[in-house]
Order: sequence, then C-alpha cells, then structure tokens
Amino acid sequence: MIEQNDWRLTNQLKYLKGLTFYRKTYTKYRDDWDHDHCEFCWAKFMEQPHDALHEGFATEGNYRWICKECFEDFKDMFEWNVVS
Ligand SMILES: [Zn+2]
Repeated sequence: MIEQNDWRLTNQLKYLKGLTFYRKTYTKYRDDWDHDHCEFCWAKFMEQPHDALHEGFATEGNYRWICKECFEDFKDMFEWNVVS
C-alpha cells in the first residue's frame, strides 16, 4: 500500500485523478519533442533506439506518461481507468 507521503507524490492528485490511461509503446507528444518523464518517479521515456523506457501508460494524445511500476503503485489511489 502506498503512503500519502511517498516521495513520488507531489500535487498529481490535482490533475491526474480519475483519468483514463492507455497502455502503449512510447510515442512522442509532438514532432519537435524527444522525450517525456514519468509523472511520478521521473523515469525517462524515449522512442527506440534510445536507451530509456519504451512502454508505459499515457493519457489520450500521449500528453502525460506514467511508468509501469508507478502505475501499479498509484492506480488505486488515483482511481484510474485503463484501456489496453
Ligand atoms: Zn514512474
């Protein structure tokens, strides 16, 4: 069970609670973008062949990304919906 004082929690409850996430391969949010970070632990996502995470959970439009580990840890607290 995740504690409310987990180091990864900042103010994400204000903007990530109850959202729908899609499990997918990382793709850039825009063409002039090259990476994103997990909203919680700040792990880096990049497209292949870069050395970073290549898969995770994203909101519609690939705007926000969460790594698998953080997603598992926080999904109950944040009441997320998952589309795979
Ligand atoms: Zn993470």
